[in-house]
Amino acid sequence: MATEQAKPIGKPDYAPPPIEGDFYRIAAVLTDSERALLKRVREFTEGVIAPVIEDYWSRDAFPFEIIPKMAEVGIGGVGYQGYGAAGGSWLLNGLVAMELARVDASVATFWGVHTGLSAGSIYLCGDEEQKQRWLPPMMRFDKIGSFGLTEPLVGSATSGGMMTTCRREGDNWILNGQKKWIGNATFADINVVWAREEGSNQVKGFVVGKDNPGFSVEKIKTKMALRVVQNGLITLSDCRVPEADRLQNANSFKDTAKVLRMTRTGVAWFAVGCQMGAYERKANRWIPARSGPARQDARQRHIDPGDDAASRAATGRRRDAR
Ligand SMILES: Cc1cc2nc3c(=O)[nH]c(=O)nc-3n(C[C@H](O)[C@H](O)[C@H](O)COP(=O)(O)OP(=O)(O)OC[C@H]3O[C@@H](n4cnc5c(N)ncnc54)[C@H](O)[C@@H]3O)c2cc1C
Repeated sequence: MATEQAKPIGKPDYAPPPIEGDFYRIAAVLTDSERALLKRVREFTEGVIAPVIEDYWSRDAFPFEIIPKMAEVGIGGVGYQGYGAAGGSWLLNGLVAMELARVDASVATFWGVHTGLSAGSIYLCGDEEQKQRWLPPMMRFDKIGSFGLTEPLVGSATSGGMMTTCRREGDNWILNGQKKWIGNATFADINVVWAREEGSNQVKGFVVGKDNPGFSVEKIKTKMALRVVQNGLITLSDCRVPEADRLQNANSFKDTAKVLRMTRTGVAWFAVGCQMGAYERKANRWIPARSGPARQDARQRHIDPGDDAASRAATGRRRDAR
């Protein structure tokens, strides 16, 4: 993203330009309206998220008050067309993911699970009536989604080894099993749950409401990474789901995999955002040390024992390189 203009070198009031991680000016490829959205995301992350997030991290809690503010930014369903979604390109989706993760990976994950995995399952695997029913409130963040695929005993191997089962009884389905590590599940209204059909062994997708009989969630506590994301252990005990709430175009794990394929790049963008945030934060602290009297002080700050080990190592490497 564009930042303020550098002053000419050699002038007494010269200050180097702020460091920013979009080295190749990828945001310049976006349209004007897409860049405007990205600017709003940065204002949101710097103005709303950054001031409060460490406090929430320390309390292992989620900042629910940011949800309506995130809705105002207009980032529900970036890359989806119709149903009240933000639209735009997939590059924009990636850059929004990066911008969110640049300040906080948990907030980025909340957004990714809600509008990506959960709403994305409905977008790709729901029929028209289901998309009209669920997507507009999700795009407005009035209803929040989760995505339940992983199980206590099965992670990467859910394609062949899923243990949660479903069987049809008249106009309903009966679900049994557990889903673990499910982001947003402690409070989500719309829980997409994947289950293997008894008999056919085909994986099917369901939308399960938080008040559905037989559905319960226990918060997973004492996480370190992505601590602000509220992960849940979902238990399905003869959980009855109407046929109308089965995702009509999810007929096998191949359909589940389409959702994973669509959202996978977002996870890579999160990684880029985390690195960008760490780099910009550190490099912008380092800049005063490159010239003028602040050099020694800044250098001292960088080897402060209060700094983390990785930063000290990075600072050491910079000194060695000179
Ligand atoms: C913070 C957090 C949030 C999450 N949110 C969600 C969510 O919202 N919804 C959801 O469904 N899940 C969620 N998950 C679960 C996540 O998707 C799983 O952790 C992931 O699928 C890996 O499964 P696993 O942890 O059981 O690891 P395993 O599958 O046991 O894998 C362990 C290691 O073995 C490797 N491995 C596994 N199989 C193979 C193989 N065949 N060949 C080579 N290497 C292999 C893996 O790469 C990994 O390094 C979340 C997890 C975390 C930690």
